Amino acid sequence: MSVIVIGAGAAGLMTAIVAARCGKAVTVVETRPEPGAKIRVSGGGRCNVLPSRVSVDDFHTKGSRHVMRNIVMSWPLAKVRAFFEDDLRIPLKDEPSGKVFPVSDRSRDVVEALLAALRKSGGVLRTSCRIERIERRDTGGFQLVSSDGRKLECDQVVLASGGLSLPKSGSDGAGLNMAVALGHGMVPTYPALVPLLSNERRWNTLSGVSLCARVKVERDRRTIDEAEGEMLFTHRGFSGPVILDMSHYVTRDRDVALRVHWGGCDVDDWSSVLGQGGRATVASTVRRHLSRRLAALLIDHAAIEPTIRLSELRLTDREQLADVLSRFVLPVNGSEGYATAEVTGGGIPLAEISPQTLESRVVPGLYLCGEIIDVAGRLGGYNFLWAWVTGHKVGRALAAAG
Ligand SMILES: Cc1cc2nc3c(=O)[nH]c(=O)nc-3n(C[C@H](O)[C@H](O)[C@H](O)COP(=O)(O)OP(=O)(O)OC[C@H]3O[C@@H](n4cnc5c(N)ncnc54)[C@H](O)[C@@H]3O)c2cc1C
Repeated sequence: MSVIVIGAGAAGLMTAIVAARCGKAVTVVETRPEPGAKIRVSGGGRCNVLPSRVSVDDFHTKGSRHVMRNIVMSWPLAKVRAFFEDDLRIPLKDEPSGKVFPVSDRSRDVVEALLAALRKSGGVLRTSCRIERIERRDTGGFQLVSSDGRKLECDQVVLASGGLSLPKSGSDGAGLNMAVALGHGMVPTYPALVPLLSNERRWNTLSGVSLCARVKVERDRRTIDEAEGEMLFTHRGFSGPVILDMSHYVTRDRDVALRVHWGGCDVDDWSSVLGQGGRATVASTVRRHLSRRLAALLIDHAAIEPTIRLSELRLTDREQLADVLSRFVLPVNGSEGYATAEVTGGGIPLAEISPQTLESRVVPGLYLCGEIIDVAGRLGGYNFLWAWVTGHKVGRALAAAG
């Protein structure tokens, strides 16, 4: 039976390689003139191809966590890694952050190795071909209609067309729309791993400042998640790994507050720093832990005179400043959206897909893999892991289906 894979991203290329190696007649069609646009730009051009470790808590879905876990673990991380190192011959290295990169630090090595494997397996790649419609044939199978009116026939079709993030890479939501047109539901989508915006202009003056911070996500004053890492001020708001990692709570749920422990310190740490007395000023003391500009802004926010000596600081002022330094609610009023989001949350519900084969339960013969499904990973290689594992699963399922 013939297969058309829509999308030559991470998931689609993996699907095509695995299926073609098993003897399937596979064609991958891709909107863009070049395949793998997102792999190329990933990890700042270095491609964080995998994480060093994985658990179910590294992914989010509105669907069954049990099903998601079974899918993620169905191709064990060590085997995925062996595929890249031994099969594609891309030497990998672990970084202390828990991320895995090619030793070459070149994302194009990953794209080229995938394309070479696709060619060798007999798979065909057709670029500059955007599919607009999937029609079910009365006789079984599918007819795909491209934007220039060409018609492509196949027995099985794979939607590996990504989500909505970074639309200039070719993933503009067309695949989601085609799935819905065929009868699928959709978990509302939202940008994830995305910088956050603030309309309080004085924060934007800190653009370029970075520091370590602990960020707690609170709903109704209860902590629902937290992370510690680098935070970066931008000219429009907040970014850096710790912000990206928590951003989906803001874009998806909206009813949350991000509380920051500046310098990673809690209220007791800051109380003891400020309570040590002596001739040092409040400003010079806070500047020992935070950058000059950030320290000035936070002291001002707490309405404390920066030149006052610690020995003269009143208890109520000390408590007020310690509170601002350790439990500060970030003034966030949105995100940069899909234009810069690394991944799309939401998508085709897990419940509408067979967990064993990732074949649609709505349209037999249609398979889905990668970011189009309602699963989004944390920062650190988890989104590629999801794309590789689901692509591999679909490739195997296609081969088994004959
Ligand atoms: C800037 C950036 C950096 C990132 N860095 C990392 C990282 O280091 N590590 C990590 O794990 N994740 C990273 N990600 C996330 C990761 O790139 C994605 O989760 C992953 O690429 C999703 O793979 P996919 O194959 O499902 O979708 P995509 O990579 O989006 O591929 C879908 C493909 O389908 C094509 N397509 C779409 N619609 C059609 C159509 N109608 N007809 C034909 N073709 C179509 C698109 O052009 C695209 O090539 C990053 C994302 C971004 C935006």
